[in-house]
Order: sequence, then structure tokens, then C-alpha cells
Amino acid sequence: MSLTKLYPMVQFKKDTWEIDEFDCASVFLLIGAERALLIDCGMGIGDLRGAVEMLTDKPVTVALSHGHVDHTGNARQFEEVWLHPADQGVNIPESLEWRRGDVVHIAHRQKDCIGAPYTMFHLYPYDINEDLREPTEPMPVVRDLRDGQQFDLGGGRVVTAYECPGHTAGEMVFLDSQTRTLIAGDAVNYNLGIGAVPVETTLRALKRLQDMGGRYDGIYNGHHDFRALGAPLDDDCLPTIIDMCQALVAGERFAPCEVPSFWGQSVPLTRHEDAGSGNIFAKFGHRVLIHQGRNYLSFDPDNLRE
Ligand SMILES: [Zn+2]
Repeated sequence: MSLTKLYPMVQFKKDTWEIDEFDCASVFLLIGAERALLIDCGMGIGDLRGAVEMLTDKPVTVALSHGHVDHTGNARQFEEVWLHPADQGVNIPESLEWRRGDVVHIAHRQKDCIGAPYTMFHLYPYDINEDLREPTEPMPVVRDLRDGQQFDLGGGRVVTAYECPGHTAGEMVFLDSQTRTLIAGDAVNYNLGIGAVPVETTLRALKRLQDMGGRYDGIYNGHHDFRALGAPLDDDCLPTIIDMCQALVAGERFAPCEVPSFWGQSVPLTRHEDAGSGNIFAKFGHRVLIHQGRNYLSFDPDNLRE
């Protein structure tokens, strides 16, 4: 049986595709005159490489925005991937059990609103028992992706990668100056988790993205939960995250979060008072969730300043 290639996909700018891995993650394909750049590899459902080869016959360079389970899943379909050294300690891919649990959870979250198990009507064109698999391919060669790395796709299309640590220590974003597109991995979103580095460090990186604002027209993150497929995040997302980080670093107060999670599952919240700042947070585990406007931000209250 062949693996599915029926990913929903949108060409949202010339030679620029967002491939939706069935609500789990977004993968981006940028096609130049000589090469193509694939950003991220999803949770590992289906034949991503086969789908990419339907869109381009150019050689494909693969870059991973970060090392999380839902961005590295199909990386073994390629011989070589670029990943920041700080994120290279992960399994590529993570265990089938972990990925399967996340895929099922996401499908329930997205499709259970019709009141039926998501498999009953084949609401996704994949079979989880076939299309999500243990890889048979060897580990790809992993190359160090660092700040300023440029990918020249030919015909004047050059994509530059920038470090934006926070969600993970090795989180990267990608600026395509030809189409004025910023592909942000999980560095920017309305439900953003940070804490891999001090909030102060993340704040500086996010401000740099904001300062680059004259070079892009839209930010596309690695999931389309809070935006339509092929459409950018709304303009308030990044400034609000920056506001929140700035307030955290300055020791300002935040009200406890009333909505624990967009993910559907309840997160046990306990009241947490920080003796130093007097801040009161909603806390789960070692992390804290706060919100402002439409943005939710989880962070580590013990890792605010450098
Ligand atoms: Zn992530």
C-alpha cells in the first residue's frame, strides 16, 4: 500500500506552498530557479517527499525550524537536513507511540465537533495504521543551521535563517526576501510556549523580528490553528508577544489565566505567587500561562532574566 500524498496545500505566493499535514503541522515549500527549500517535516504522516516531488522536480534542501516531534517526523525521507545545534539532541523522528498519541489527539480536537469519531467518515485521507509508521530509512545527515545561514535557491531567491530562541533553544525562522515572507516555525503564535532560554533572550530575538518588519508582509508559523491555511498570522500576534515578554522581564503583574489551554485538554492550574515580583500566575507543572488580548503565552517563571 502506498502512503498518502493527499495533503491539503495552498500556493499562497508564487512558487511558495503551505502543505498542511492534516492539522498536525504546516510544512513550507519554496521553489527557486535551481533548488527548492522545504521547511519542516511534520509529524510523519504519509509520503511528504512524494507530495513535494509532485510540486517540483528541483533538488530539495530540507531545513527544520526546530527539533520538536511535529516538525521532524518525516525527516528520514530526506538524505540531509539542517537543524540548529542546540536542538540536535532529539530523536528523528520521535517514537511512533508519542507521534500517534499526538496525531489522535489533534484529530479529536479538530474533528470531534461534528459529534462522531473522526475515523467514521474518513475525514482525513490517511490511515493512521499505515500512514504513520516507524521509519525504515537511515538517519539523515544533520547539518548545523545557524544565524545568518543563507539558502540560495537560484534566480535571485535567497532565504536567510535567523535564530529566535525561546520555544526551543535552537528555534529558527526563515526570511524569503523575494516574496517578503517570514516563516516562523513555532517562534510566533497565539498560543506560544517559550522558556528554553531566559524570557529576556527571547524578547531580544522577537524584537529583532519586529525590526525586520519592513522586509516581510506576513508571518507564517508552523501550524494553522489560529489562521487559515495559506494566510498569515494577524498583525497583533508578534507585538502582543513582545508586550507580554517585556512586562515579564520588567516584573509587571499578570492576572492568572482563565482558559488553561487551546489544546482542549484541561491543564491543572494552581495559584502561584512569586515572592520576588508579587506576580500571581496560573501555574501548571514548572510553567505558567498568561494571556493578553488574543495571545496566550506559557513560560518558565524561574527563567525570566539572563
Ligand atoms: Zn514546537
